[in-house]
Amino acid sequence: MNITENDHTNDYTSANGHTIEAYGRDIKSLTLDELKAAMEAMGEKTFRARQMYEWLHRKLATDYTQMSNIPQTLAGRCRERYDLTVLDAVRVQESALDGTRKYLFRLPDGNLIESVLMRYRHGNSVCVSSQVGCRMGCRFCASTLDGLERNLLPSEMLEQIYSIIRDTGERVSNVVVMGSGEPLDNYDNLLRFIMLLTDDDGLHISQRNVTVSTCGIVPMIRALADEKLQITLAISLHAATDDKRRQLMPVANSYSLRELIDACGYYFEQTGRRITFEYSLVKGVNDSGEDAAKLASLIGRLNCHVNLIPVNPVRERGYVQSDRYAVEAFKDRLEKKGVNVTVRREMGRDIDGACGQLRRRYMSGN
Ligand code: SAH
Repeated sequence: MNITENDHTNDYTSANGHTIEAYGRDIKSLTLDELKAAMEAMGEKTFRARQMYEWLHRKLATDYTQMSNIPQTLAGRCRERYDLTVLDAVRVQESALDGTRKYLFRLPDGNLIESVLMRYRHGNSVCVSSQVGCRMGCRFCASTLDGLERNLLPSEMLEQIYSIIRDTGERVSNVVVMGSGEPLDNYDNLLRFIMLLTDDDGLHISQRNVTVSTCGIVPMIRALADEKLQITLAISLHAATDDKRRQLMPVANSYSLRELIDACGYYFEQTGRRITFEYSLVKGVNDSGEDAAKLASLIGRLNCHVNLIPVNPVRERGYVQSDRYAVEAFKDRLEKKGVNVTVRREMGRDIDGACGQLRRRYMSGN
């Protein structure tokens, strides 16, 4: 993976390889090699970089004073030069139903984001946010109601996981980038985050256990395919015709379903990874037998899997969940056409599980 040669620049990264300058004071967003260069530039021995990296990404230090094998003078100089990004959990809710924990974190600049810890039998999974707010405008989603505030830095994405590990003392084996924000709208930071997260010298989470979910920004899906990572790509589909998809997701005005499905085929060709399609069922909108038949023929030839999700009602939106019978009927129809399909277990229903809901409630004073 090459994180410096993309031309998809944003506020935080440069396309020409000046990554240390671009990440400025943010030490937790630096790779080990960059940290080595930073130590050299400070006139320090490079083995200090490895020690420091271990404190940051393995021992999950929250302050330079914890780094017991780093001389105090060096710790002091690092403190002057670099911020050590730590998130402050302002609210934590645990589901009485399934142990899901939802965190509301305050970022160093005061912005709020949400993350979720889901405890499954096969291990713990953390759902991380990739942006503060979102500009994609999906009609059923609470994260996008106030638009995009800013991109998250790699360190801010990592810290969501690190904070949760520190808080629970539990291991995390899976990471899904499915919280607030559109990860492919924050592409360079996303790649750097994945690199640090899956690094042998960090938490070393397997790429196969990382899922990135996108509303379907076609050129970025193709760019991601070219990185040839082993991560799972999840596509928020939610409709099987362009007309219907445009009503739910403004991004469908930019890219047709044909282009999207072709890009998914390309992702599979480049990576060998099966695509996941997410399909939120909204009563009377996209849950009919005809919708299921159209979906099956749209994706039928791809190596893929469909996750059906009864839509989470968002007060501001007025969409209603399909009833259980409609969900089962939809699933049966897909299965009869040979499509791999599961109905997503709803986690944390009692704690505002849906994207962006906890943050909105907190900000409106409830
Ligand atoms: N922007 C990315 C990731 C964030 S949204 C994307 O679009 O995939 C994560 C998933 O939750 C997406 O599939 C999104 O469509 C879905 N989602 C958002 N609001 C929802 C709601 N109210 N009910 C059910 N699913 C929702």
